Amino acid sequence: MPELVRVSGRRSEQIMRTLAHRNIRITIVGGGIHGASIAIRLLREIPTAARHLAIVDRHPQPLTQWRRKTERQGMTFLRSPAVHHISPDALGIVEYAERHNRTDELAPPYSQPSTQLFWDFCDGMLAEFEQHQVYHQFEVAKLRWDKGAGKFPFRLISENNEGFRSRCVILAVGVDDCPYVPAEFAQWRHQYPNRILHASEFTVDFWVEQDAEESFVIVGGGLTAGTLARSLSERGHSVVLIARKPLKTEQFDFPPIWLGPKALTEFASETSFQRRYEIIQQNRGEGSITPDIMETLEDASNIKIYPETRIQNIISAKEGSPTQGLNVKTNRGDIMNVSRVILATGYQFNLCRYGFLGELITQHQIPLVCGLPRLDADLQLYPIENLFGSGTIAQLQIGPASGNIAGASLAYERLREKLLAHL
Ligand SMILES: Cc1cc2nc3c(=O)[nH]c(=O)nc-3n(C[C@H](O)[C@H](O)[C@H](O)COP(=O)(O)OP(=O)(O)OC[C@H]3O[C@@H](n4cnc5c(N)ncnc54)[C@H](O)[C@@H]3O)c2cc1C
Repeated sequence: MPELVRVSGRRSEQIMRTLAHRNIRITIVGGGIHGASIAIRLLREIPTAARHLAIVDRHPQPLTQWRRKTERQGMTFLRSPAVHHISPDALGIVEYAERHNRTDELAPPYSQPSTQLFWDFCDGMLAEFEQHQVYHQFEVAKLRWDKGAGKFPFRLISENNEGFRSRCVILAVGVDDCPYVPAEFAQWRHQYPNRILHASEFTVDFWVEQDAEESFVIVGGGLTAGTLARSLSERGHSVVLIARKPLKTEQFDFPPIWLGPKALTEFASETSFQRRYEIIQQNRGEGSITPDIMETLEDASNIKIYPETRIQNIISAKEGSPTQGLNVKTNRGDIMNVSRVILATGYQFNLCRYGFLGELITQHQIPLVCGLPRLDADLQLYPIENLFGSGTIAQLQIGPASGNIAGASLAYERLREKLLAHL
């Protein structure tokens, strides 16, 4: 992987000094898929925006989280079609694949790109950040809004109390601070912390012993569960996949109608934010698995699928010896000598879990519905002016597609006018 935007410690300090002496007009917190997509769209529309734009992220390079997650799970192809990516040119990846003789990395039926093709294409786009020097490694430890404090009312402060001011801030912080662990697993995880892991903590090639055949239980019925099961099975391990409901096979993780004006206009006309939350839950469901992965799972001799199954207890395979494997008791019977239980149980967004926003949420009494902020139609976090959200944080306005790649272009359409007014 070419490392275009690596920032050394010393350079990061220099950048911090540069930021510290500037008032930035537009700051994007989060250099993941959403932050990068918005920045690229802005730079394409107004190249001089680079002078007034900063993307800050705790990682030295943009899209680090995205790469890590796909690598950790052994994901080889994206779920979404080739037209969904970080640049505004819909056919960008397809043309890139044609130029580089890599069209075999666009899978039928919707030309889903391979993860490698997606990364390589993104690297070309991200070179623009390097060229314009808009990306800065900076973890925001506190965000303050001093209403009425002139043209740059936001203060972004790091752990060691360095900071800079901004006129407007876009939160594109993803969901990583909110892994969802079902309540019944809390005690078992406490007892066996190295054996029961959330999928976000698990890396296929790090946790698994080389050349040893191990036995895994994966909990969950979504694509993360399916992809992990396939990766482990391909490495010769045995897997039991346990889901509370029957497994669903779908190409996409939300109905594509949610990308079009009809569904979104109806969604916008719903005045109850609680009802909007319920609509999102109904449309995203508890996850589904793509047809190609499901076929692999069904064909693999070392994968067992237990749908409509509940785990009743997890105990050490050898009483009093937590270093031994686990016995997993379910309503279908016991699974003995399990090396690890992986919770592919997803994320549950809650703004309160983002520590850097704690003071802001309390001080300005930001109203939340099931953990999500009630953004206005321009994606501003009511009641704070010029604080915007993109990604899962914007679900109550953008709907079920909000956290996906396509959600970033929907968000940009809403943010665009307000952002351009700041340039
Ligand atoms: C394995 C996997 C596969 C997926 N495949 C698809 C797919 O095929 N198609 C699709 O449409 N969607 C897919 N998704 C869903 C979605 O597109 C991704 O999760 C995407 O990464 C979301 O982008 P994001 O920018 O919202 O979050 P992220 O990519 O997580 O970026 C958020 C960034 O914010 C930074 N950040 C957070 N807090 C702070 C702070 N205080 N200070 C500084 N930086 C901070 C983080 O470091 C991170 O870099 C997939 C998700 C996963 C996990």
